[in-house]
Amino acid sequence: MSVIVINYGPLAANLSTCWRRSGGEDNPEVGIKRHMDMEPWKRSIRNWWRKANRVKPGSLPEPFHHAADIAALNKFFSNRRSDLQGAAETAATLTGQCYICNAEVNFRIKRPENGEPVNWRETLACPDCGLINRWRGCLHLFDAICQPTAADRIYLTETLSPVFQQLAKQYPLLVSSEYLPQAKPGESVEMHSTTIRNEDVTQLTFPDRSFEAVLCFDVLEHVPDYRKALHEFYRVLAPGGQLVLSVPFSFQQETLVRAVVNDEGNIEHLMEPCYHGDPLSAEGVLSYYDFGMELLEEMGSTGFQEHFTVCYSSAHWGYLRPHIAFVARKLKR
Ligand SMILES: [Zn+2]
Repeated sequence: MSVIVINYGPLAANLSTCWRRSGGEDNPEVGIKRHMDMEPWKRSIRNWWRKANRVKPGSLPEPFHHAADIAALNKFFSNRRSDLQGAAETAATLTGQCYICNAEVNFRIKRPENGEPVNWRETLACPDCGLINRWRGCLHLFDAICQPTAADRIYLTETLSPVFQQLAKQYPLLVSSEYLPQAKPGESVEMHSTTIRNEDVTQLTFPDRSFEAVLCFDVLEHVPDYRKALHEFYRVLAPGGQLVLSVPFSFQQETLVRAVVNDEGNIEHLMEPCYHGDPLSAEGVLSYYDFGMELLEEMGSTGFQEHFTVCYSSAHWGYLRPHIAFVARKLKR
């Protein structure tokens, strides 16, 4: 007979930071109650059950679909683009169902003043929860394929966003972070009237197998060594754990490299620099990549035993224009 000893000591310390940060008894207006961690053996059984009963890529629930390769993905996108042609072309709002609020709302459409096309991933904010298209879609997908519970340990790679506010209400064991180069790894810093934990996604301070899920939304394109980040996500996931990832996508097999960090540590631009909005810097944050389908193969070589793309579009849910997300699962210890 063999005995498995699991050490939850460092994790418990991390999670107590999370409780203090996200509310609990110290911050009742956030609505979070202090929540005791599950007993490790109960968690192992639950994770084993979830692993055995996981939603397979071929049977994703509506509005999500699996695209096995770039040809299937492009076909889905060209069909859906014409489906939605004309919808919300000029309107300021779109009426639809917010998955997060479970209510019919008028999603707000932000149109650039210079006449540029609408960036559909970054708009259609719900007036109640504040979540834009890609966040609502990814949290919907997370529920659909991970079936998370309040006892799950979840790591979110952002703190200064409405998506953090939303998840913190639902998951007492949520841990979130931002990248604060001036702070020590794992250190919590008071900024923007909140406590923010500093983590470099290429060198996370969490112990192995700390989380049931890692959620990383539009962060990897800002990480020059994103493969190292994938390795870290794999390491910190428990067996049966899942990574849900969204990134800007190039609609081709190859990843488009926009910029590199050269041997001297300087940034070399290979294309017109592209900066994304960043709550921590007025000038924005540089995007190094527009990812292609090759990201899937890289997930496989990282160690993830199951990995697939999910595409979706739905006027009903306010997911205008088709979108893509990546899912990777750790099935082994
Ligand atoms: Zn909402």
